[in-house]
Amino acid sequence: MIKIDEEQLIDDLLATSIEFGSANKDFLQREYNNFIVLNHSLAYNSGKIIIGEKDILKKTSHKKSFEKYNLQSQREFLCKLRDNQELLKSIAKHLNRFSRKIKFENCCFLDSVKSFNENDFKDIILSYFRTYGDKYYRIVKSYFDNNRIQTDSEMFEEGLGGYFVPLIWLYSGYIFSKYSKYNTLTAASIVHELGHAIDSELFLFPQQKKIPLHDDLFLEIPSIAFEVGFYDYLKSQKIDYNGGLVLANNRVATLIYEFKRIRQALLSKELYLYENGVAENEEGLNYNLRVDVIYGLGYYFGFHLSEIRKNNPKEFLELLNYLMTMRKEISLEDAIEKTGFNREDFINGRYIKPRIKEDCLELKRRYKVD
Ligand SMILES: [Zn+2]
Repeated sequence: MIKIDEEQLIDDLLATSIEFGSANKDFLQREYNNFIVLNHSLAYNSGKIIIGEKDILKKTSHKKSFEKYNLQSQREFLCKLRDNQELLKSIAKHLNRFSRKIKFENCCFLDSVKSFNENDFKDIILSYFRTYGDKYYRIVKSYFDNNRIQTDSEMFEEGLGGYFVPLIWLYSGYIFSKYSKYNTLTAASIVHELGHAIDSELFLFPQQKKIPLHDDLFLEIPSIAFEVGFYDYLKSQKIDYNGGLVLANNRVATLIYEFKRIRQALLSKELYLYENGVAENEEGLNYNLRVDVIYGLGYYFGFHLSEIRKNNPKEFLELLNYLMTMRKEISLEDAIEKTGFNREDFINGRYIKPRIKEDCLELKRRYKVD
């Protein structure tokens, strides 16, 4: 039973958003286009990024209307969560059962991923996006050409690997990754953020849907679909076969964990949800359920879409385009149906279980894990 806390004031939320360095702020920042915070974060980062003071001031004056939009968006997210709780609980139940059955293990050998020199590193990312066609390749290349990707960024909380700052007035953005090495782990975090860049430039900016995104359940789908595709690419092109396995397995572990927490929250006798997405119950549970839901669904769809891409890359892009274009118009149930999956099979994970199981077994064999 979910109770929505209607009392939560937008001021509290903004106060949280301004608290520098919190992951919550990062999400809020993206959604609000809160340019005051943005100004701070960019100043904090490096001298490489210079944004005209005038532009920032111009945007700041619109802040009031963003606040109003966002309150509505937060409420809409809570309603969507309430409407989809049975579906989410079922996915979580099946995932949990399946992971126990196959003795799923997070083979977290992230140190074993391959390293490259800077040029090869860049080439790997560019050639990966080239497989999607010119339109995608050009966007990605512009981020490299205009020096809009920064590694070794300090603006992170634990758990967050990368971060995308959309700047609609530049019709572009900036990408930050906390990792510093030119290896496939860093590449994967940049690929994920480039997915957000592509989503922004192809869908969010032109559709004027960049604000507010709080209630967008599909927010992480494009970035994760490109990210999961990258793991497959690392394997199929033999760029870093082990790395592809390890990184994908690590993401499956996150997926299982997120759904576990979603289920735990939704099974509470009484669950309080604040409008920023934080869930609380009497047993001391307290975490950002919204983050779990958008990432959990992102990975769940991402792995499903990557199965489609293996057999039919064109269909994959059509489906991704459809989901991104319709993100605010269709329900989660519609999205499952439109992507051509049988509802029951989608919920019980039939399409992705074989891949997860095989990857996990192969990893255990390669790294001699019992
Ligand atoms: Zn993301």
